Amino acid sequence: MNCPFCNSSKTDVINSRKTSDGDGVWRRRKCLKCCEVYTTTEYFSHDSLFVVKRNLVRKKFVYEKLFASIFNAVIGGKIRDQGDDAARAKRLTGEIIGEIIKLRSKYVATKEIVAFAYKVLEKENHFFATRYAMYSEFRAKVVFGNKK
Ligand SMILES: [Zn+2]
Repeated sequence: MNCPFCNSSKTDVINSRKTSDGDGVWRRRKCLKCCEVYTTTEYFSHDSLFVVKRNLVRKKFVYEKLFASIFNAVIGGKIRDQGDDAARAKRLTGEIIGEIIKLRSKYVATKEIVAFAYKVLEKENHFFATRYAMYSEFRAKVVFGNKK
């Protein structure tokens, strides 16, 4: 990327490490033209991932939608200390996306996402997983099947 100060494309990476959530790469860059130092973070782009809905319509994957569903499962109605919960939900969302990416497909079905989310949440905390599944009839069906 170009220097945000002078727009020069000639920059050097002077330091780099993983971001604290472990999902991205943090880089300290120095512009070779104006010598300003700035930080960039690099994350995997979900732009090329599509979700196949139940009605077979394909929609772009939206990180925020998945995150919100996981966050709701994690907080379960609590209204305090949401910073920690948000960080936890972010990490779990990252794990779920990791599972989706391992499919190595441009398309993922909604029910596959639900199954991954349930698996990841169950590993973290049984109550998160149950809450997540019970939140919608469709999810409950995916997770528990049609037995009633
Ligand atoms: Zn510059």
